[in-house]
Order: sequence, then C-alpha cells, then structure tokens
Amino acid sequence: MIFQKEKPNEFSTIKKVIAIMSGKGGVGKSSVTSLIASLVQDQGYKVGIMDADITGPSIPRIFGINKERADRNNKYIDPVETSSGIKTISINLLLDNEESPVIWRGPILNNTVKQFFSHVNWGELDYLFIDLPPGTGDIPLTIMQVIPIDGIIVVTSPQELVKLIVKKSVKMASSLDIPLLGIVENMSYFQCPHCDEKTEIFGKSLIEGITQEMDLELISKLPIDPKLVEMSDEGKIEEYIQNQKDQYEEFIQNILKI
Ligand code: ADP
Repeated sequence: MIFQKEKPNEFSTIKKVIAIMSGKGGVGKSSVTSLIASLVQDQGYKVGIMDADITGPSIPRIFGINKERADRNNKYIDPVETSSGIKTISINLLLDNEESPVIWRGPILNNTVKQFFSHVNWGELDYLFIDLPPGTGDIPLTIMQVIPIDGIIVVTSPQELVKLIVKKSVKMASSLDIPLLGIVENMSYFQCPHCDEKTEIFGKSLIEGITQEMDLELISKLPIDPKLVEMSDEGKIEEYIQNQKDQYEEFIQNILKI
C-alpha cells in the first residue's frame, strides 16, 4: 500500500529524518535520542527533536524545557529551543498542564504526530530525530508510514529478548522500505570508575552475534552511567554532554557515518 507522506511546510527544509525505536519502554530510547541529538548539534549541525512518544513524553524533561510552551500564535507552531539550540516539539510543550494524561485514541494521536512534522516551524534542519513510541505496534507503524523517514536506529538493552526485537524491527523497516541504519545497545556494561574493569551487569551481551548474523550495523554499546540518569533527571543533558564528550567520541563518529 502506498501512503501519503507528510511534507514540511514552506518555512522548513529538513535534510535527514531519523527515527529512534525500541522493542519496549525503559531501555533508554529517549535518553539515546537526546544523546544523539546533543552530540550531533555539538558537531555544528542544525538539529531538531520530535517527541512522538505522545503517551509517555520525556524529551522536555531531559532538556529542562518542560516549563516552556511552544508558541501557537503564528501560522505554524514554533518549537521550543533547548539551551544549545535544538528545536524541540513534544505534546508536553503544548498541553497546559504537563501532568494531564493524554487519553486520546489512535486517530487523534496519529494526526498529532503528522502535525508535529508538517505544522511545526522547523526552519532549516540538517537532522530531525524522532523519538518513537516504544514497540512495533500500530502507532509507531503509522508514524513510519506517514512521515518521510530516511532511516531507523533501534535501541536495545541486554535485558531484553534482543533477537526477537531486532527481527521484528528489521521486518517492520523492510516492509516500509526504510533503511535500518543500525543498533545501539544501551546499558551494555558498567565500567568501574576506579579500576576501569567492565562488568556486564545484565548478563553477557548477545548483540555482536545477532548483528553479524543479520548483517546489521552495531553502532555502539553504551555503558550504564549513573551521571546520565542524574543529569537527565535535572534536565541538564547538554551540560552532561559537554562534560562527557570524550566518552562518546566513537559513538558520534559512527552516527555521523550512517
Ligand atoms: P525509554 O525512552 O526507552 O522508555 P528512557 O530513556 O526514559 O527509556 O530511560 C529509562 C531510564 O533509564 C531513565 O531513568 C534513564 O535516565 C535511564 N537510562 C537510560 N540510559 C541509561 C544509561 N546508559 N545508563 C544509566 N541509566 C540510563
């Protein structure tokens, strides 16, 4: 089936749209989206984030912009800019009270996400990163059908039934003709700050074998980092990136390559 794809409005040009997906919630999809966006922005690119996880939006909190509201007085919605200038849209930047649960059903959710693409004044972007809802169900599927996505990154964690999730993601991407750019294994290990020893807390990672077997790119294995949780909870992910840039050098180079 051919789906009508949304187009950016006359004030916006978006060079590359990358969606970040996961098999389930809690594996760090929003954190990885935020890390990627901050690191790419830090390299001098113009970056936007669309928080398409409508029923569990967490991007505004991670960037400390959850008290701000997007301006809806113009023809198109103006996104909120983070402290480093990442243009961000999220349902929490539009609702009067961020604590109100979003209890909309599928069609309204889908329309909202479409509008996040075509009715937001994105301006000129090199990259738009989309934080998809978790899973491979109806809503992420519809988003992938209606937004012109150039590629998908899958975030996994060692606690999951990774092979199944990766297989499902590969199928979903190929059925929609969207390239699966690669896998990020999050919370892969913990590196002792004293002796540098790496411990695979959640058991031995299987991701290398799986990506090799399925001929997929393993973009990176990211460590468990308590500082990331602390700084994200405080809405200071960009400050965290400024302090921890070296740790993510290889990660960002791999992202820019895909
Ligand atoms: P998801 O978007 O998949 O639901 P989140 O990005 O919200 O997951 O992350 C869930 C929790 O795990 C958050 O508290 C987050 O700070 C934490 N977390 C994510 N990645 C890491 C990591 N690499 N190290 C430590 N904690 C992490």
